[in-house]
Amino acid sequence: MSDYDFDLFVIGAGSGGVRTSRIAAGYGARVAVAEDLYLGGTCVNVGCVPKKLFAYAAHFAEDMADAAGYGWDLEAPGFTWQRLRDSKTSEIQRLNGIYRTMLTGAGVTLIDGRARFVDSHRVAVGDKTYTAERIVIATGGWPFIPDFPGREHAISSNEVFYLDELPKRTLVVGGGYIAIEFASIFHGLGCESTLLYRGDLFLRGFDREVREHVAETLRNKGTDLRFDSDVARIDQQPDGGYRVTLKDDQVIETDLVLYATGRKPKLDGLGLENTRVQLDDKGFVGVDADYQTSDPAIYAIGDVTDTLQLTPVALAEGMALARRLFGPQDYVPVDYADIPTAVFCIPNIATLGLSEEQAREQGYKLKVFVSRFRPMRNILAGRDEQSLMKLIVDQVTDKILGIHLVGPEAGEMLQGLAVAVKAGATKAQFDATLGIHPTAAEEFVTMRMPVRVD
Ligand code: FAD
Ligand code: NDP
Repeated sequence: MSDYDFDLFVIGAGSGGVRTSRIAAGYGARVAVAEDLYLGGTCVNVGCVPKKLFAYAAHFAEDMADAAGYGWDLEAPGFTWQRLRDSKTSEIQRLNGIYRTMLTGAGVTLIDGRARFVDSHRVAVGDKTYTAERIVIATGGWPFIPDFPGREHAISSNEVFYLDELPKRTLVVGGGYIAIEFASIFHGLGCESTLLYRGDLFLRGFDREVREHVAETLRNKGTDLRFDSDVARIDQQPDGGYRVTLKDDQVIETDLVLYATGRKPKLDGLGLENTRVQLDDKGFVGVDADYQTSDPAIYAIGDVTDTLQLTPVALAEGMALARRLFGPQDYVPVDYADIPTAVFCIPNIATLGLSEEQAREQGYKLKVFVSRFRPMRNILAGRDEQSLMKLIVDQVTDKILGIHLVGPEAGEMLQGLAVAVKAGATKAQFDATLGIHPTAAEEFVTMRMPVRVD
């Protein structure tokens, strides 16, 4: 046993930090974790979990409208924002409690407060200083809002979960995950929802056909999408609303401006200057393949590093690090290939592997299968909305290189397919798999004719 207070000191009890702490303690390491805001981090408190609860809430609007086609006569439904917000907050508090019990039950010492490096082996929290043989930076990220006149009137995803009132008109700025999810949530909850993106089409990096399909679908639902557009200034109006002037002098009147323009690593006040940790050129904590920083006693995982900003990635990195340090017999490095992901807009987008454009850039000869159809559920509902399913297949090996879908429960559908792709599935194996009838998912095993072979 070392002379240090702890074998491992983890800064940040978010997705990555909790996982590292628990697994390391499970191997018998003496572990402490410091957390200054909320147990469970971004995902549990102001990320995945409350966002998904809001997305469920938003979905009911369509479900109730669709029910009429199935014979249900429903009274004009009312919606109470405060009830949703408060139920969500109670659920988050329940989860915070579970995290506390889980950590302490695993033998981890939980330290409430903001941690700051004193040197490579010492961390101060409040007026106490702790020593540790190794320290993990798992401090995650923080919303980034660019500078412009009236920036103080914009809110970020941190605040959107605690609004006093649901605004009548909303403007979301950005074209990534959070922007699309919230434009969709606001629309579903009955707001006049506008999304503004600086480029020609949102979701840069996703498959082009998916991006176009989603834009068309959200527009048809009634979300106002403004592309090639950016904010010049925001001015508050006497009635409490906002006048948003765009760079092309157009004006949008709204009651809320949500900026979803990416996140930056959370490093303020961390005392990195007291260590040998170096940042990379994008400002993330630089690490090698073993998550070790340029200071040999200090490691970093999750959103504070330049990795995919997803909870399962932070969890996997936390697990890999703890095993490598304390249970090397169980160590398996994280496999970053073919990570499935979903955007929880309505309907969902789910994606895995290469987009058609990326596959072509990488020189593959492709067979591309695309199916666009109206899901059975939409027929009696009188809803014209179509789903999109797309398989990108390597002509030479027949392997599936990418799967992309837009439709109800796309995230749920893709998880199982991701296992098949991990196992190296070919299109022939998809074809040999019998469908489950009648489902929308069976389309993936019945796409016979490629739309493009080149
Ligand atoms: P975090 O979870 O951010 O945890 C870092 C913790 O460190 C925080 O609790 C913070 O308070 C604490 N901390 C920071 N500095 C200090 C300090 N000096 N001392 C003590 N404590 C400190 N991912 C998905 O996979 N699916 C989703 O659906 C999804 N939805 C999202 C929705 C939103 C609105 C947002 C913002 C993110 C979403 N994400 C989603 C991303 C996901 O939340 C992050 O990738 C994940 O939380 C990263 O985990 P982490 O451990 O690196 O950091
Ligand atoms: P993203 O990185 O996904 O998107 C940021 C968006 O903001 C991009 O469209 C970007 O445009 C735009 N942008 C960046 N800077 C500016 C600027 N100065 N002015 C105007 N627009 C700008 O970030 P998010 O904030 O949406 O989410 C952060 C991360 O959290 C995501 O990348 C994702 O990893 C994770 N997340 C995951 C979710 C999920 O799994 N369902 C849900 C929510 C978040 P451009 O493309 O032109 O650069």
